[in-house]
Amino acid sequence: MPAILTDIRDEIRALKQEKDAVLLAHYYQEGEIQELADIVGDSLHLSRAATKVTASTIVFCGVHFMAETAKILNPAKKVLLPDMLAGCSLADSAPADKLNRYQEMLRINGRRFQTVTYINSTASVKALSDWIVTSGNAEQIIRRVPDDVEILFVPDRHLGQYLSEVTGRKMILWDGACMVHEIFSVGDLLVQKKKLPGSITIAHPECPANIREHSDFVGGTEAMVKYVGTFATPTDFLVATEANMIWRLQSVHPKHRFHPVPGISCACNKCPHMGRNTLEKVRDCLLNGAPEITWQPEFDRAKEVLERSLLR
Ligand code: SF4
Repeated sequence: MPAILTDIRDEIRALKQEKDAVLLAHYYQEGEIQELADIVGDSLHLSRAATKVTASTIVFCGVHFMAETAKILNPAKKVLLPDMLAGCSLADSAPADKLNRYQEMLRINGRRFQTVTYINSTASVKALSDWIVTSGNAEQIIRRVPDDVEILFVPDRHLGQYLSEVTGRKMILWDGACMVHEIFSVGDLLVQKKKLPGSITIAHPECPANIREHSDFVGGTEAMVKYVGTFATPTDFLVATEANMIWRLQSVHPKHRFHPVPGISCACNKCPHMGRNTLEKVRDCLLNGAPEITWQPEFDRAKEVLERSLLR
């Protein structure tokens, strides 16, 4: 008689085996999803890891552009996204037709430029780009752009401004932003710092300059995990990024205490798009083999740009 699977976690584990699937999860997923994942990481880590998996199916617990990137880098694999509506406000802020028109206008005006695009963008936008960056490799890629051409940075103006500061390169900044990182309250951060003297503030570079200015460390999620690891004694960290990152930091570095920096309108700063994925949807997509990311014509050009930027 087959064992009765009472826990949804057991169902997911059994289905992964049965369907020859691997589960990839971004740090911004709920802890219960990260706990079940085979690989957890930031966009750069997951994109690279996706090219090495041997299973025939990848269940991508993240948002649409991430699952799309996994498919582009793995055309032969079946890539599932538990909720096809898991979008991204930042990716939405750069529609491909608008970018195309803007690039045309710059060319007509005689501007020589390369388009450096944050991975949080659609495949159509990636296909219009020269380089794709993540918060983990952006500085390195920007240094590969020749000095005699301008940089059009798409779509996050805050990350672009930060990169412009650290690399000394002037940039034309697209006017996009992440709805989660944009709403941290600098006033509340200062109050928190006062309440917790000796605390260390760590911020994601998608945060606006007024938050970065009051931070001890600015870096992507993978860099945050490493940075916190350099503290030998128990420390309070104020964390200015998506709130689920705290789950990760706490599980990797249990001796420290982590506090979310509050937002202007809410205290949690959880991404509603990431939050669309639930354990039930993970189980159902494994059961049904859907929703699936299917190959689109713009993926061919996006693949060239992604491989050049992330894998070489
Ligand atoms: S946290 Fe921001 S950038 Fe990340 S998926 Fe959500 S809306 Fe997009």
